[in-house]
Amino acid sequence: MLFDNHGREINYMRLAVTDRCNLRCFYCMPESGIEYMDRKDLLSFEEMERLVTIFSGLGIKKLRITGGEPFVRKGIMEFLSSVVQIDGIEKVRITTNGTFTGEKIAQLHRLGIRSVNLSLDSLDRERFFNITRRDLFETVMSTFRSLLDHGMEVKINMVVMEGRNIEDIYPMLELARTHPISVRFIEEMPFNGSNGQGNPSYWPAEKILDHIKIRYADAKTLEDPASSTAKNYKIPGFAGSFGVIAAYTRTFCGTCNRIRITPQGDLKTCLYDDGKISFREMLRSGASDNDIVGALWKALKSRFKDGFEAEKARLQTRPVSESMATIGG
Ligand code: SAM
Ligand code: SF4
Repeated sequence: MLFDNHGREINYMRLAVTDRCNLRCFYCMPESGIEYMDRKDLLSFEEMERLVTIFSGLGIKKLRITGGEPFVRKGIMEFLSSVVQIDGIEKVRITTNGTFTGEKIAQLHRLGIRSVNLSLDSLDRERFFNITRRDLFETVMSTFRSLLDHGMEVKINMVVMEGRNIEDIYPMLELARTHPISVRFIEEMPFNGSNGQGNPSYWPAEKILDHIKIRYADAKTLEDPASSTAKNYKIPGFAGSFGVIAAYTRTFCGTCNRIRITPQGDLKTCLYDDGKISFREMLRSGASDNDIVGALWKALKSRFKDGFEAEKARLQTRPVSESMATIGG
């Protein structure tokens, strides 16, 4: 089993398979997009598979595929078919914007993938367009319905933003009245692909919850799964539940069980750190599996206590400014 220097077990890996995306969510990247990495600098699927195989041998059991938009990368379905078969990987889950996902759902289900996080920031077509800068609301809704029809576990990720989608909070909750889904309200973070420290008027988790309780005062606290980033709640009579994720105020770091691999193969032991190791360089310069294991252990033994410590350290070189598409969320 993998442990960090604070005694936290590490069993979850987030793998961003591309930095490319067909949407331009304004909290994630500028309208003009981001400067994509050269294709040759992205990990190949073979390289990713090797990393997952090595890490599953060390105790990584849960794998989340993210990006950029995972389904824009050619060969993703073949990669998923291989990765679900890796010994020790118990769960493969995907985070997607839902625009190219619809026609893949049956195949995902056949592969044994049963859980999808769907990013959906508004239930109104115009507001959706204003946030994502693309007119694809109906496509994403059709993916949502199809996920449910296929019996997938669906979590909706909604980034809460002053002046953009506050009016969507209640309708989004109402989706959980009849559907057995989890709606997760996420604090906006400063990973938007431009300089500056993000939105000073972001909604902290407490404010989101207070707003929800105005209408749903009887929402009950649920017991959260171990290492959950969300605080979860249930409104009596609802088929589903909701969660609030303090992604910016970072109240969950104490139980963090995850590592991240960026599209170019950097290891991040914290969302807010500056990358610890280039596995791409190691893989391409002939490193053995043992070398890679050693490098991972070394990075985990100097892991920051929390996201604040990580952010403080990286501020000495450069502030948080990259797009979330280059990290994977
Ligand atoms: N393209 C896919 C999607 O949107 O679901 C996967 C990658 S996206 C970077 C992963 C998650 O990060 C999404 O749920 C997205 O809403 C969230 N995200 C992106 N930028 C964010 C930000 N600045 N603050 C909070 N969440 C963010
Ligand atoms: Fe693309 Fe996801 Fe970023 Fe939106 S949040 S621009 S869908 S990577």
